[in-house]
Amino acid sequence: MNVRLRTNWAGNVAFAARDFYRPSSLSELQALVARSARIRVLATGHSFNDLADSPGAQVSLAGLPPEVSVDSAASVARVAAGLSYAELAVRLDARGFALRNLASLPHISVSGATATATHGSGTANQNLAAAVVGLSLVTADGDLMELDRADGAVVHLGALGVVSSLTLALVPAFEVSQRVYENLPLEVLDDRFTDVMTSAYSVSLFTDWRAPRLTQVWIKRRLDVPASSVPEAPWFTATPATSPRHPVPGASPDACTAQLGIPGRWYDRLPHFRPEFKPSAGDELQSEYLLPVAHAVPALHALNQIRDRLAPVLRICEIRAVAADQLWLSPCYRQDSVAFHFTWIADAAAVRPVVMLAERQLAPFGPRPHWGKVFTTPREDLRARYERLPDFLDLMRRFDPSGKFRNAYIARSLGL
Ligand SMILES: Cc1cc2nc3c(=O)[nH]c(=O)nc-3n(C[C@H](O)[C@H](O)[C@H](O)COP(=O)(O)OP(=O)(O)OC[C@H]3O[C@@H](n4cnc5c(N)ncnc54)[C@H](O)[C@@H]3O)c2cc1C
Repeated sequence: MNVRLRTNWAGNVAFAARDFYRPSSLSELQALVARSARIRVLATGHSFNDLADSPGAQVSLAGLPPEVSVDSAASVARVAAGLSYAELAVRLDARGFALRNLASLPHISVSGATATATHGSGTANQNLAAAVVGLSLVTADGDLMELDRADGAVVHLGALGVVSSLTLALVPAFEVSQRVYENLPLEVLDDRFTDVMTSAYSVSLFTDWRAPRLTQVWIKRRLDVPASSVPEAPWFTATPATSPRHPVPGASPDACTAQLGIPGRWYDRLPHFRPEFKPSAGDELQSEYLLPVAHAVPALHALNQIRDRLAPVLRICEIRAVAADQLWLSPCYRQDSVAFHFTWIADAAAVRPVVMLAERQLAPFGPRPHWGKVFTTPREDLRARYERLPDFLDLMRRFDPSGKFRNAYIARSLGL
């Protein structure tokens, strides 16, 4: 195969992998994995680090049949790993089903997103990996292994094998409306953080850190759930936007899902960005840290102390809530979490010292970095913050004794 994607989506990582393959059948994929010395999957390449790189070959699963098979009685779907959420969601919706939550963009693959514990927002919503109830895994020798409810293997960073399909838990399809509110003083969160975050199915807070205030609050309500007792407007003194907004200052709201309270399908409102447009700012880097939600307000204060350092290299910061899960390498493992996300300017040299500063400020709260974004957290700190990391390393040794699926990122971050 001669096609080669040389960089990730953001363009900040040039892949070193020598070979790139795009098999069109499962048996072709199995034979490829069996004969490769080193191989890793490149999905939609939306990670901001070298996670998807390989010292040997990269493989894309986009050429495998895009199968989706729904078991209505069991409310699960078996889904080809290469599908994006945009492709999957309309097919589930047509069968009357939905996924409980989605990330800010539907462009990413199901397998890449779940491998890194990608998440949306909602105090009662777990990350997207928590929907995985089964995996079909092509192991190092090319065999196909079925894993059921494997808490240790769902967030796998590509280090256990090649996932060829996933079984996802479904819920009945639902409708959502979203509204954007503007200009909420940060101090409101001192007493009302929980009220704000629990006021709807999914809540995202945005700030550019140029002042101690939220620039926007995105409220996504399920239409089949009674509205909470939190006032609709004026909303904690924030003002409802009167026209559509983009969270990144200056970017066109055309790229965003419909707002102004217009009802729509779950997959057309839960993400901020529409699949037919470039998501977010485009020209950017991203970092994100998840920590126990009980520390949300002190962590906000810690970031507010350095906002003069954050603001010059920041496009936007988003604060979300994610419910606890049982997945070993999930940043939300056994803790209800708050997620502090940073969309930076695309200048790695200018951003790196600020990333390190933000990590120092958040360190007292035990932040777990998003595996797919820019971070400098040393391996020892990751080990201290992920109590099941030693168990995951045992899994890696068992599934992949020769290190076929390892790369520089795995060595640096996990130490294997
Ligand atoms: C604009 C933008 C917005 C984002 N918004 C969010 C957000 O709202 N929430 C959030 O949590 N994250 C967000 N992210 C981060 C993104 O969700 C993660 O980086 C995710 O992993 C990207 O998925 P991908 O399909 O592009 O995976 P890739 O980056 O291609 O791969 C990620 C990892 O998964 C492995 N992998 C992928 N498929 C397989 C497979 N089939 N078998 C084995 N290993 C596999 C790869 O080897 C790699 O290690 C965003 C990223 C961008 C660029």
